[in-house]
Amino acid sequence: MLWGYEPVGAPTSELPSHLLSHCRIKGKSNNQSFAFIHTHPNSVIALTYAVANLDTKSLSKLLWQSHAECVVVFPQGIEFLPWVMAGSMDLGRATADAMSRRNLAVWEFHGICGCGRNLDEAYGRIDVAEKAAEICLRVMAAGGAKNTLSEQQIRAIAANFNCPLDESLFG
Ligand SMILES: [Zn+2]
Repeated sequence: MLWGYEPVGAPTSELPSHLLSHCRIKGKSNNQSFAFIHTHPNSVIALTYAVANLDTKSLSKLLWQSHAECVVVFPQGIEFLPWVMAGSMDLGRATADAMSRRNLAVWEFHGICGCGRNLDEAYGRIDVAEKAAEICLRVMAAGGAKNTLSEQQIRAIAANFNCPLDESLFG
């Protein structure tokens, strides 16, 4: 430690995830992205309990279908990380890997991480994912979806707003 935390205190217990992710997002964004947030949004966490066999494909599609704004805000999808011990180097490495591919990563039973060019952009991505997760849970509580956005409609929204959709998440 070189500075601060006097007379007592310590950095966040998720320091490995913060520092390793900063390294990755700095590189992938050509020094344009500098913000990384980790937080515990209720609905995103609840979704990891409520839906069986989640993975990056199924979670991304579920949230894209839960609100039309999602594919515009996170067209590269949302990474799903199965449970890893909080504060561990393993979680830090897995999160940094996720941040090299996308701007959001969900930690099963724990929370979410988001990155962006600044705190507004990182927080905005998390907020939209949380809103979609809440809508998804309300739909499930109301008996399940009777209608949903189709893949064709999601593609059309992404094209309309010129968003680089990760097609590998379909199918
Ligand atoms: Zn946490």
